[in-house]
Amino acid sequence: MPSIFQPFDQELPGKTEWDSPMFRLAQQQFLKAAQIMELDENIRDRLLFPQRSLTVSFPCRRDEYSQVETVFGYRVQHVLTMGPTKGGIRYHQDVNLGEVSALAMWMTWKCALMELPFGGAKGGVRIDPTKLSRAELQRLTRRYAMEITDIIGPDRDIPAPDMGTNEQVMAWFMDTYSQQVGYAVPAIVTGKPVVLGGSLGRTEATGRGLVYLICEAANHLGMDLTKSTAVVQGFGNVGSNAARFLAENRVKIIGVSDVSTGLHNANGLEVNSLLEYVREHGVLKGYPGAEEVSNSELLELKCDILAPCALQNQITAKNAGRLDCRLLAEGANGPTTLEADQILIEKDVFLLPDILGNAGGVTVSYFEWVQDTQNLTWTLEEINNRLHKIMVGAFDRTLLRSQRDKLDMRTAALIEGIQRVAKAKLLRGLFP
Ligand code: GLU
Repeated sequence: MPSIFQPFDQELPGKTEWDSPMFRLAQQQFLKAAQIMELDENIRDRLLFPQRSLTVSFPCRRDEYSQVETVFGYRVQHVLTMGPTKGGIRYHQDVNLGEVSALAMWMTWKCALMELPFGGAKGGVRIDPTKLSRAELQRLTRRYAMEITDIIGPDRDIPAPDMGTNEQVMAWFMDTYSQQVGYAVPAIVTGKPVVLGGSLGRTEATGRGLVYLICEAANHLGMDLTKSTAVVQGFGNVGSNAARFLAENRVKIIGVSDVSTGLHNANGLEVNSLLEYVREHGVLKGYPGAEEVSNSELLELKCDILAPCALQNQITAKNAGRLDCRLLAEGANGPTTLEADQILIEKDVFLLPDILGNAGGVTVSYFEWVQDTQNLTWTLEEINNRLHKIMVGAFDRTLLRSQRDKLDMRTAALIEGIQRVAKAKLLRGLFP
């Protein structure tokens, strides 16, 4: 029978509402894996687009009372098959439907790879949070929470922090939702302050998880971490904690960066003093005892471990050939393009792909949700032990598939995730 759908071009699956460079990257990574694993075509086409996407525009009152601005917000749920959907909320001036959709798709593969009972989601508001006062940020968060309230819930879709949001934003979010229903609903978001039902260890979980994996990878590669050097791009929640845990493992941190600058010191940077400097000055710029480098110089520094923990689209066909690391540990979502992947495979750089590398965050979010829904509290030790077990399990499965099927680590991780979702979809069948 002829298809009822407008056919879309497999090579160029854009041209839809979700189209953006980042969404195309997510789709192309998925299509590459789908082809290798010979994924059922019907399932492939279902997974190529988000199941639900909500775009809202709403007013935000500035501190200057008469000034009201219209802002855009999004919440995208990629797969509703696996359980509630899960994923962070990003506040950034470049957020758009395509970016949020790409991030939602990656959340699906990430949750499936970690064997968490969630599908992927993501949200975002297109504003620069650094330009807003605390009061403005609170009003914006409350109104955004209201705007998406119909499609979220502890059993439906559970937001969390992402770039530009933090535990205070989650607290306002949780309060807004709770005010609507008339009682406290801690399980509506994860990444909350601990007194509101947040989990111990959640804040640092992404960085901690990444370093657990780096230890596994180093073991696999025969690298001695105490004789290794690392460069960490990004000094936000993920990057700063990754640097801290690397230093705890006696790795020498020779480069770090944030939006303000890059810093290089071949003799090693003191992570605690960097953290103290940022607490005092807000950014890394001006930190004494290190040479300033540009973002591109930072990425090209010779090191054993390079950990991109900032934005997407950092390692591209342009600079991948000049990278000089043995291990690429992706703390960010989507830092490496498809062309760069190919170059790095040829250079034999060992990759911890984003959906594995940064999955520590959502894993402890899962623990937080479990504790909230069952009124339990786990100790930090219990959380870290469980996190370690889940991270190492996913690393082992990915490495095994990569070795057995002769695949790069990204494709192996994607296939691990996709096959779980595909299996669930087949078992649930079609309605009607
Ligand atoms: N935003 C984080 C991520 O990209 C965490 C999501 C969550 O905890 O739900 O994985």
